[in-house]
Amino acid sequence: MGRRLVLQIKEISKQYDTGGFVQQALDHVSLNLRDSEFVAILGPSGSGKTTLLNIVGGLDRYDSGDLVINGTSTKQYKDRDWDSYRNHTIGFVFQSYNLIGHQTILSNVELALTISGVSRAQRREKAREALVKVGLGDHINKKPNQLSGGQMQRVAIARALVNDPDIVLADEPTGALDSDTSVQIMDLLRDVAKDRLVVMVTHNPELAREYATRVVSLRDGTIRDDTDPYEVDETAHAPAVHRNLGRASMSFATSLALSFNNLRTKKARTFLTSFAGSIGIIGIALIMSVSNGVNTYIANIQRDTMTAYPLTIDQQAWDLSKMIESGQRNAEDQAKTSNKRHAIYPDTSSIKRASGLTSSIATNNLTAFKRYLDNPKSEVRQYIGKAGVQYSYDARFSVFSHDPTGALVNADGVSVGDSGTSVANKIAGMNGAQTGDFSAMQSTQMATLTGKSQGNTSPEAFHEIMAGKGSETVSKVITDNYRVVHGTWAKNRNQVVLVLDGNNAIPLTTLYELGMLPASDYTAMMAEVNAGKAVDPKIGKIDYAKAMDQPLKLLPASHEYVKGDDGRFRYVGDDASEISKLMDDAVPLQIVGVIKPVDGAKATPLQAGVGYTAALTNYLIDQANDSPVVTAQKADEAHNILNGLTFNPADDAAKAADAKAYVASLGVSQKADMAKSQMAQADANQNGGAASQGATGQQGATTPGASTMEPGALAQQNAEQGAAGNGAAALGEMSEQQLAERYDAYIATAPQADLVGLYSKIVPTSSYQDNLSTFGVLSRDAPSSIKIYADSFEAKNGISDSIDHYNAKAAKDDKITYTDYVGLMMNSVTTIINVITYVLIAFVGVSLVVSSIMIGIITYISVLERTKEIGILRAMGASKRNVSQVFNAETGIIGLLAGILGVGITLILIVPGNAILHHAMGTDQVNAALPLSAGVILVVLSIVLTLIGGLIPSRKAAKQDPATALRTE
Ligand code: ADP
Ligand code: MG
Repeated sequence: MGRRLVLQIKEISKQYDTGGFVQQALDHVSLNLRDSEFVAILGPSGSGKTTLLNIVGGLDRYDSGDLVINGTSTKQYKDRDWDSYRNHTIGFVFQSYNLIGHQTILSNVELALTISGVSRAQRREKAREALVKVGLGDHINKKPNQLSGGQMQRVAIARALVNDPDIVLADEPTGALDSDTSVQIMDLLRDVAKDRLVVMVTHNPELAREYATRVVSLRDGTIRDDTDPYEVDETAHAPAVHRNLGRASMSFATSLALSFNNLRTKKARTFLTSFAGSIGIIGIALIMSVSNGVNTYIANIQRDTMTAYPLTIDQQAWDLSKMIESGQRNAEDQAKTSNKRHAIYPDTSSIKRASGLTSSIATNNLTAFKRYLDNPKSEVRQYIGKAGVQYSYDARFSVFSHDPTGALVNADGVSVGDSGTSVANKIAGMNGAQTGDFSAMQSTQMATLTGKSQGNTSPEAFHEIMAGKGSETVSKVITDNYRVVHGTWAKNRNQVVLVLDGNNAIPLTTLYELGMLPASDYTAMMAEVNAGKAVDPKIGKIDYAKAMDQPLKLLPASHEYVKGDDGRFRYVGDDASEISKLMDDAVPLQIVGVIKPVDGAKATPLQAGVGYTAALTNYLIDQANDSPVVTAQKADEAHNILNGLTFNPADDAAKAADAKAYVASLGVSQKADMAKSQMAQADANQNGGAASQGATGQQGATTPGASTMEPGALAQQNAEQGAAGNGAAALGEMSEQQLAERYDAYIATAPQADLVGLYSKIVPTSSYQDNLSTFGVLSRDAPSSIKIYADSFEAKNGISDSIDHYNAKAAKDDKITYTDYVGLMMNSVTTIINVITYVLIAFVGVSLVVSSIMIGIITYISVLERTKEIGILRAMGASKRNVSQVFNAETGIIGLLAGILGVGITLILIVPGNAILHHAMGTDQVNAALPLSAGVILVVLSIVLTLIGGLIPSRKAAKQDPATALRTE
């Protein structure tokens, strides 16, 4: 025998202290064992046999003395050394077999090899050999409970031998067997003892004497008898060499397989455990699903709201919130002073209100602000939503077409060149407006100059279709909310679409303006309306295809000014024959599609009419800059190229000269109208002086005296020239030509004060910049309006804050004023949303805690249940780490199952859950749904939580004393 093992038990004592009662299990026991003998330890129950065996096998620790293995003291042994010692040197056989019930007998035998890290194939082979040796070659795939007691004990012996240990320790191996089977086992052990040390505990003296080569009797923890004592000659023995016993360790895969097998044999229990664990996960998953549904709903509402109400910053803006604030302040002031008595107090509320109104109106420097918005480094950029920032420009143009009768139609008022735009009418309108309405007066003056009103610079029915990001012609905001019912979207500057409202309607006026219905019908209809007659137009529907056939022609504003023989430019937009001449060079617009809002559209920024692309706006910007009228105006910045007047007359003389020049530029009928209007004024002055005071009031600021003089002066002139009797009567009989001549004569000799008065009354003043914008000159840097889209209220608030920061830094004139309508509407909503979110987060947190506690308890129970298995593993040399690893693997698997189960059950529960949700909320907009990422995260979370929950129990399992664990039944 090559084994030269000598085991020396030196003065070993061991006591057990249980609740104050000290039991001396071993009392200074000394015993030397030879390398191959069959030692039987005899003794009555409780004499310390098992304790001695466990100490020899490294399962239990001695209190004092020493266990010397091949001359090496084990006093300094660490856990690792003991583990390795058990694994490589010791094979255990127990009375109660201690097989792992959920493993096949082959796996049970393999276990010891598994722990020492032998490869799978080798493991199989060795385990099979060992089983064949004990006569169980035919049963390797049976489970322990399918074997008889003797067979199970033979499996245990095979397991003890498979690692080819130096020592086999058997604790009453035949204790539970009948005598026949006992004999078979004893034969087997005697065989085993041929080439190794076998120490067998028994209380059967006959068997001991028959089979063992040496019998040691134990009583009350001391050796009473030894049939073959062995004195070790310490000097003769070769010096102790610490043999490297090799590592005893188990791979994680083995731990997993072990746990997986265990769980597989207890399917129902595993399912219930996982289900219990999954309840927490289900709770979290359900709350997450609902929260996800609600959040999606809220986010959708927010985005829709922000799409419908982008932050809009206009060149001319008024701050509604500031107005409301000042209104509230006034009301508060009012309330404070309401108790005053015994005197008269002025009520200043209306003047404050008025001042609040005017002070909240501001002009925004959008050029500077656009520079800020376009700067990628600006704070505001992070908050801008998917729809981005939209800049609009005051593109100025006219659109013409021919109605079914062939008449030229202007999209900005149906007929071209009707009497409504004549200068005389404007003047009449001006007189009619002499009730102190200053703004009406100004716009009338402007209209006189251009034939168009200031506010209406492109046909009202025409709207630019918001462009998308990058090269997208149409923004997602539009395509999300509108659908094409015929044709396609407009893709370039020559293409437009007809925009219908939700009822497929377009205002009747717009249809006339686009020439789709005869203009004469419109004129007739309007005449009836003006005459006070009830009008109920019955007009049939128009086919999509027919409407799309209507050709439209666009003239940029700059092209509507034509240079006359006198070198001056003239507006010809209301001159049908001039327009007809220009039509050849006009930009053709083709209606390529018909669109309408989708059902339930969230935002409908396009009004019914015609939608054109931003490409057209860009084209118009280029066109204006290159046009002759703009070139001419740019060449002379001091004078208005339309009438030759000076932009900023320096003194009264210059004004008088301009007044003369202006009158000279008027036509005969216009001059006659001027004359008539003045005579009418003169009459009014004579017949009711008080009434005429109002007429002069609005011009009185500069030259009050002069203006009252003027009508009288003309009347006087009439008298001087010998017109018969009453001046007004004489005028009524005069021809236009005569009136015009009379007016010229008056102007020629009129005093400067009269002319200055006339200047301020009828001569349209404008500036160089005004003229350029009238001609449609635009700068891409100077939008007329900016819309900023956000995707959520939070982002919107971020934008508002960024603008506040911008304003704090900006120069006084660059500060931005705007009304945050959504902010005004939604303040309380945002608070509610935040509360909901926090409540949901709290729910999730509570579920998480409950879930982890539950999982911890379950793992703990599992540890208690598997105590025996822990003992077996430890006896076979598994380290503490291996044991906790096995339990971690098990909790991991349970966590995985619990997670998958939880997510699965949640997915099923969501179906009826949504039905309930829809019913309860009265809307199907809120849809509980578990996002895939959340599902994966929850499964991982379940694993992590279970692992954490099982950490304490698994550490407890690892710490368990293997000897105690094995004693547990
Ligand atoms: P035997 O195997 O000879 O029947 P044991 O070695 O199992 O005896 O036990 C020896 C004595 O030690 C007994 O009195 C027993 O009660 C006591 N004992 C053994 N293990 C423990 C323990 N873990 N805690 C307390 N007492 C113990
Ligand atoms: Mg015992």
